[in-house]
Amino acid sequence: MRRFGDPRLWEMETPVYRRFLSKVRRTEGVLSLLAGDPDFETPRHIREAAIQAIEEGWTHYPAWDGYLDLRTALAEYHSRYGTDWSPESEVRLYSGSTPALFTCFLSLLRRGDSIIVFEPYYMGYSPVFNYMDLKLSTISLKEEEGFHPDVDELKEAIKSKTRMIVLCTPNNPTGTVYNEEELKAVRDLALDHDLLVLSDEIYDQFVYEGKHRSVAALPDMRERTVVILSFSKTFAMTGWRLGAVLADKEVLSLIRRVPIGGRPAAFIQRAGLAALQGSWESVERFREKFKRRRDHLAKRLNEIDGISCVLPEGAFYLFPNISGVCKSSVEFCEGLLEGKRVAVYPGVAYGKTGEGHVRIALVKPISELDRCAEAFEKYARRQRG
Ligand code: PLP
Repeated sequence: MRRFGDPRLWEMETPVYRRFLSKVRRTEGVLSLLAGDPDFETPRHIREAAIQAIEEGWTHYPAWDGYLDLRTALAEYHSRYGTDWSPESEVRLYSGSTPALFTCFLSLLRRGDSIIVFEPYYMGYSPVFNYMDLKLSTISLKEEEGFHPDVDELKEAIKSKTRMIVLCTPNNPTGTVYNEEELKAVRDLALDHDLLVLSDEIYDQFVYEGKHRSVAALPDMRERTVVILSFSKTFAMTGWRLGAVLADKEVLSLIRRVPIGGRPAAFIQRAGLAALQGSWESVERFREKFKRRRDHLAKRLNEIDGISCVLPEGAFYLFPNISGVCKSSVEFCEGLLEGKRVAVYPGVAYGKTGEGHVRIALVKPISELDRCAEAFEKYARRQRG
C-alpha cells in the first residue's frame, strides 16, 4: 500500500497518546474533558439567522473569500486591538481556523524551515509541523513563571532558516495572555531577522487576567503578521466551521493561492455576520461561566497533595502539574480513565515541556467538574498508597 500516496503522510508520527484515545473510545460512560468544545448552545439569534438565510436562498456558491459584509465586520472587530485591515484584500474566511492554519503554514513556509514556537503549544499544530518537516526552536512556558516566556531566550532560538514565530494568545493549553513586553520582544525579533508571525487569537474573548493584545497592531508588524480568528469558541459555534485569516494583502494573496476550497457555506457566513453584529450578552455569559469553572476546579485541585494548578489568565483550560502523583502524563490519564472514567489530555501531547501536566477542558458544568476533582483526589490517594 505504501507505494501509493505522499510519503510524507505515511511517515507522519503517530501521537504518543493514541493508545489512550482508543481506550477512551472503548470506555462507556466517560466524562470527557478532552475537546475544547463547550457545553453551551450557539446563541439563538445566530441559529435563527442561519435558518432565515437558508429560507432566503443563501444556498449557492458563496463569494470566493467570503462575503464582503462579513469581512468588513471582522476587520472592524479586530480594529478594537488597534489594527486596520482592509476588508477587500486583507480578510479571508475559511471553514474554521483549522484549514486556515494549514493553508498559512503551507503557503508561507518551505519544507524543512525552522520556526519558533512557545511550548506547550496547541496539539493541532503538530500534524502540520510534521507534514512540513519544520524544525522547531521552542521557548518554554514554565509553570514557575506562571507559564510566561523568558524573553531573553527568544534571541537564542534563531537558526539560519528561521522564518516564522508562532504565537497563540491566549494560549492553548496554558492560558498565557502575552503581555506588552513579550509582544514587543516578539516584534523586535521579527523585525531584526525578517520573520513572519502567526498570531492565533481564537481565544481573544476569554481573558480573565490582563487584556488581549494583537502583535499585528505594533509598529511595522502589519506586513509580517498573520492573524487567525475563529467563531468556534467565541460564539459556541464549533460545529459550524467558520474561521478567518487577516493579513497584509501581499501575504494574503500568497495564502489564497493554496488550492483548498476553504469557503464556508453561504448561510453559515450569514450566521457569522449575525454573531458579530448581534447581542454579545451570551459571550459575556460564557466568559463568566468559564471563569467560575476555572476558579472552582483550580481551587479543588490545589487542595490535593501532589497536584498544583496555576490559574490560567485566558482560554478555558486548566493545565495542572500532576508530577507529584505520577511522572508520566499518559500513565496518569490512563489511570484516571480506567479507575474513574474521567478523560483529560496528557500534557505531553502539547510538546515535551507539557510532560508532568494534564489539560482539562472546562467544557462541562461545575457539578461534572466536581466529579473530575474527586477522580483526581482518589487517584492521587491511591498512588500515594
Ligand atoms: N487554534 C487553537 C489554539 C485551538 O485551540 C483550536 C481548537 O481547539 C483551533 C485553532 C481550531 O479551531 P477551529 O478549527 O474550530 O476554528
